Amino acid sequence: MAPPRAQRPRVVAVADGSPAAAAGLLPGDEIAAIDGQVPRDVIEWRLLVDEPSPTLDVVRGGLSLEVVVGKEAGVPLGAEVASALFDEVRTCDNHCEFCFVHQLPPGLRGSLYVKDDDYRLSFLYGNYTTLTRFTELDLERVITERLGPLNVSIHATDPELRARMLRNRRGATSLRWLRALLDAGITVHGQVVVCPGVNDGPALEQTLAGVLDRYPELATLCVVPLGVSRWSPESSLRAHSAAEAAAVVDLVEEWQALYLRVLGRRLAFASDEYYLAARRPFPAAEAYEGFPMHEDGVGMARAFERELLGEVAEGLGVAPGFFSWVDGAPAEGYRAPRRPPPARGEEATPRLGPPLAADPRPVRVLTGAYGARVLGPLLARLGRADVATLTVANRFFGGNVAVAGLMVGEDVAAALAAHGAGPGTRYLLPDVCLSAGRFLDGTTPEDLPVGVEVVATDGVALRRALVG
Ligand code: SF4
Repeated sequence: MAPPRAQRPRVVAVADGSPAAAAGLLPGDEIAAIDGQVPRDVIEWRLLVDEPSPTLDVVRGGLSLEVVVGKEAGVPLGAEVASALFDEVRTCDNHCEFCFVHQLPPGLRGSLYVKDDDYRLSFLYGNYTTLTRFTELDLERVITERLGPLNVSIHATDPELRARMLRNRRGATSLRWLRALLDAGITVHGQVVVCPGVNDGPALEQTLAGVLDRYPELATLCVVPLGVSRWSPESSLRAHSAAEAAAVVDLVEEWQALYLRVLGRRLAFASDEYYLAARRPFPAAEAYEGFPMHEDGVGMARAFERELLGEVAEGLGVAPGFFSWVDGAPAEGYRAPRRPPPARGEEATPRLGPPLAADPRPVRVLTGAYGARVLGPLLARLGRADVATLTVANRFFGGNVAVAGLMVGEDVAAALAAHGAGPGTRYLLPDVCLSAGRFLDGTTPEDLPVGVEVVATDGVALRRALVG
């Protein structure tokens, strides 16, 4: 799959009453340059349009025109653009055997097969970068523009093992950039994908020691198990056994105690999937130190518990990241918003059905096999016998894929059919499995055999859907 090509920023929305609207900018306009400079990405775009009265070279219907936007420095332009990167996405030159892109079934939308290793997507969306294609110029830009936090894939601190895992000799040396980023005060989160028999056991211990020795400024280090789909071309890849998962949990917890003594914080966290695979109880909510890696599946279960049981007022949901303040639209094809954009006059968050108290129908919450193990006991604590989970077996990906985020339409439809789904039951679908309103297999909730209500994937939203 070829990476997306370079493209000019294309305006997709202009806010009423904004400086962009006053200057006559229109959706569909392409911006060739701002004050003579061609922005490479939405980060540069933001910096350029932040200037007072920027001059935009606009291409409209094949004609070139100049638009001067009258505004003060720092006043938002009020125009959204269609993508985050205007030059080409930097693709990855690694060949990790555990790469999930290599484990996707054929025929999915093209953007899912793009293996990016672009620090800008790390900054914008929280994607992980191995830094094997990072350069001196990139470092200078990250430091100058303070492009943090960044997420870095570590996997192993032993150079030879890391190069072997990435199947790239530069994997042996690219963590020097991590040291440089930390030296410059950039916040970095690290990740270790653990493959049984490769970087677990003594190798994982060496990595945890290496982090303390060489990268103690890391904000967090999340330790996650590899996912193995039935499409994996690597015969040596296998899921952890329960005993192997328990050994990883034990090791991480042992090192947490050490980090806590030396650094005053736990630093490393095993993901929720590890506790489920090991059949161990999750650590207490406090042990997650504010849930900084919630979106990476670390502490999700405990956070959800607090939210569903009404112990906190707000759900953690999706970290808003950079796009909470930039006036650019999320990139198409990367982390698109879970729901499609609302049509004009439509509410941004569609209304759910009536709360349970007002609706006598039983409720089934659709979720993956792991989600059901977390959610089932929590729903029971709500004291409603008519609310339960409906587990969606993941036949599409197969293997050990059991998280709600990878549920696809055809598996959801099969679970509904097996349940004899009909209008006598309310079905709630977490939006984590959708991207711009579509499942990974390209279908939409409207294609399902019965109507489902899409709810935000946090305990507060689910509680609201259930009890009003
Ligand atoms: S670095 Fe990431 S995208 Fe690249 S091969 Fe490895 S797992 Fe896949």
